[in-house]
Amino acid sequence: MAFWRSKKSDPDPTPSSETASTGPTTSGEPGQSTQPGRSSGSGGMLAKLSGGLNKTRRVLATDIRDLFKSEGRLVDEDFLGELFARLIRTDMGTKPANLIKDEVARKFRGRVVQLEEVIETITDEIRQQLRQDDGGLARAESGPTVILVVGVNGSGKTTSIGKLSHYLHAQGHSLVLGAGDTFRAAAVEQLTIWAGRIGCEIVTGASGADPASVAYQTVDKAIALGTDYAIIDTAGRLQTQSNLMQELQKIRKVVDKRLPGGPHEVLLVLDATAGQNAISQAKGFSEAAGCTGIVLAKLDGSAKGGVVLPIRDQFRLPVKFVGLGETMQDMAAFDPDSFADALLKG
Ligand code: GDP
Ligand code: MG
Repeated sequence: MAFWRSKKSDPDPTPSSETASTGPTTSGEPGQSTQPGRSSGSGGMLAKLSGGLNKTRRVLATDIRDLFKSEGRLVDEDFLGELFARLIRTDMGTKPANLIKDEVARKFRGRVVQLEEVIETITDEIRQQLRQDDGGLARAESGPTVILVVGVNGSGKTTSIGKLSHYLHAQGHSLVLGAGDTFRAAAVEQLTIWAGRIGCEIVTGASGADPASVAYQTVDKAIALGTDYAIIDTAGRLQTQSNLMQELQKIRKVVDKRLPGGPHEVLLVLDATAGQNAISQAKGFSEAAGCTGIVLAKLDGSAKGGVVLPIRDQFRLPVKFVGLGETMQDMAAFDPDSFADALLKG
């Protein structure tokens, strides 16, 4: 299974001459794989996903196992009710949990079943619910692909940009980062550190500079250097802050002005530990900001990994990546099948 996916099949992952000047600096770092998807193989990424979902799986799989005795269990209303209660403990919400319960009922009602049969059915149903058309990153037809990263404060935007940059760089892509969060000096510093780790260019503005102008210059630089990607950070904001939402529109507009068609992706970073309410609120945000995909950060710290189900249900946006920790390699391209397996089987 291709765990790291990209829409574009890359016949030649060799960096261009322009990227040579911004070339990799991570290759010499001990313990840092520059090709997470290739060097560690999909098995490595599966292990990472499995590790990240450890807490959720411990709750879910252990709870479900507890429903069974060695001779199996009769699927009746009692069993179905207990199963439902255990499912929603992972924050998957009532609608996905009901669909799973109904599927188990449809297949097994009135029969004595073994744990493995039920786990298999639940896994299949979760796969169905998570199915999405395309989780790969969009690519610009020509020129750099511009990715704008948005979300509320602290959701994991800057860290996700660092990890995404590492991922793209490891695939041989060149990139420029744009420090569009000009509100906080610390945010610029944080992104500058990531750029240094990865060995890519970064465009920063003066403190308090217009983020739209930083975005414009970032795209400008990416075009000048001929890089494959420009990834632009933004300050955290809420949908209710209309001036900040307008600012996002302005950023989009200037990007499109410099490179018609851009931004090609607007990724909404959600904090998996934030709970369902916070995530429902982000729905309005995603619509207002014209988001194209979701990065679900901090799945590792949460026993609520089931939250990906209501996210898929409510947003109608593909989940493109999941964040599984704070280091460079702690990100995986989202794949429904592996996710369902990691959630229940480990
Ligand atoms: P931003 O305000 O949206 O840019 O959020 P940051 O990227 O600064 O992240 C906020 C905090 O969450 C930082 O302490 C990050 O290290 C942490 N963080 C971000 N992504 C992850 C993740 O996938 N897993 C874990 N455990 N922590 C994360
Ligand atoms: Mg930030």
